[in-house]
Amino acid sequence: MPNPELPLPVRKHLLDAGVSTEAPFTRRVFTNRDLAFDSMKAVGFDMDYTLGIYNQPALEALSIEIGVEKLIRRGYPTRLETIQADPEFAVRGLVVDKEYGNILKMDRHGYVGRAYHGRKLLPRPERKDIYRAQRVGQERERFARVDTLFALPEVTLFAALVEMVEDHPDDWSRTPPSYTQIWTDVREAIDESHRDETIKSRIKDQPAAYFHKDPDLAPTLHKLRSAGKKLFLLTNSYYAYTQVVMGHLLNDQMAIYDDWSRYFDWVVVGSQKPSFFVANRPFLEVDRRTQAHVGKPRDEPQKGKVYEAGNREGLERALGVHSDEILYVGDHIYGDIVTSKKTASWRTVLVVEDLEQELEVQRAHELSLREIEALAEIRNEITEQLFAEKHKLRVLERLGGEVADEDGAGEETVQAAARGTLGDVRARLDRLQQHRDELEAVLQRRTATVDQAYNRYWGSIFAERLNTSLYGAQVEGYACLYTSRVSNFLYVSPSRYFHAPAARMPHRGRA
Ligand code: IMP
Ligand code: MG
Repeated sequence: MPNPELPLPVRKHLLDAGVSTEAPFTRRVFTNRDLAFDSMKAVGFDMDYTLGIYNQPALEALSIEIGVEKLIRRGYPTRLETIQADPEFAVRGLVVDKEYGNILKMDRHGYVGRAYHGRKLLPRPERKDIYRAQRVGQERERFARVDTLFALPEVTLFAALVEMVEDHPDDWSRTPPSYTQIWTDVREAIDESHRDETIKSRIKDQPAAYFHKDPDLAPTLHKLRSAGKKLFLLTNSYYAYTQVVMGHLLNDQMAIYDDWSRYFDWVVVGSQKPSFFVANRPFLEVDRRTQAHVGKPRDEPQKGKVYEAGNREGLERALGVHSDEILYVGDHIYGDIVTSKKTASWRTVLVVEDLEQELEVQRAHELSLREIEALAEIRNEITEQLFAEKHKLRVLERLGGEVADEDGAGEETVQAAARGTLGDVRARLDRLQQHRDELEAVLQRRTATVDQAYNRYWGSIFAERLNTSLYGAQVEGYACLYTSRVSNFLYVSPSRYFHAPAARMPHRGRA
């Protein structure tokens, strides 16, 4: 087996010569649900954040700049101009509590593990007070989920505004808006900047500044085509933008493809996912030169042309394959993955670019992570003993005191014995308590160091403390496969069988 860390050009030659090479450890494809790649007859791709990897700090800065302009035009204070992008603060998978002005990270059970008010960490008692009930986040009116990387700038803007309202209420001539109103205004400003072309026109002028060009993308698509898979592009972006982005990513990459569109058999833009999967809009042909709609609306797209809108059933008919022979690769857990999986039986790949950093940190802190797990196990064991001793103490106290008062004489021997044991139990309880506190302190220090390496505000996006995070649970529950970028499939044999690790319920673990 060739060394997986060989330089990329060498690995490419080996791959071309049919020698299997392993992906570098950050570029592996992970399996949640068994999948025979061989049976996937068609492979579809989303564009934004899937084929096209944005330069996130640049895009965030641009979105914030344009969002701020729009908010100031709506009457927000000019102090907003001082707001800076902070690529670490907003991460995927968070939940915004619009009512309280808080940003939350939850575990898989909906328990709020961390919360920031604006950008200030909420102390534990306050957090517990507000989010005592589990299943926080279900009321759609009050909570907003941060599902895509496009949504991160609005979280940064919202958090900064929450602080501004508190620190500088006099900036507003009247009463400052409520947190819920601020969220609505921020959401509208960002939404508008996507729809009115202000963001897109800036990106179209300078795509190189906003996209990381992945030299392995074209060879990956070529490899899939060569293996006989039908490829399609299915994006919510409209043609004018798609044309520039895809051209930037793929034109001039491989001599045998004279234009980006040739990598795909079918191209659907402005698809309005997730409703694409359930609604019944016709396919509208787009003239690539004039960008106008031409011809009659169609029930099915034709090969080699570009269509806008459309619907899943029409695309499936055109592909001529069963729903479960389609593999769709996207970055949006809801728009791309959950809906395609629930409404159709498309198989899914989630692209999570954060995975590369996540794996790097995991490797660098492997020992600390193992230590944390071991310490937590001992801590849990001690906690169990502590609770058992506390219960014993309560019973002994009753036997030695109140019971005797009520029942009178005849119980002296029991009372005396109970009182005699009380001292021992109290001492054991103190020792256990002290041991537990010490362990807890070490655990917190170790966890803080590792969290800092992942993200100083939130730790890993896939985990909350020792549990899987809400986002992690969604990835696990809905994506058949997940990986950091499309070109990781360059290392995957077209006939690979992806095996999911065996997942066991607690009662089926080791006896
Ligand atoms: P896809 O990921 O290729 O399906 O498409 C994402 C498209 O949605 C891009 O064109 C984005 O500009 C657009 N988009 C992202 N966020 C928003 C929003 O809040 N409002 C409107 N369009 C958005
Ligand atoms: Mg996308």
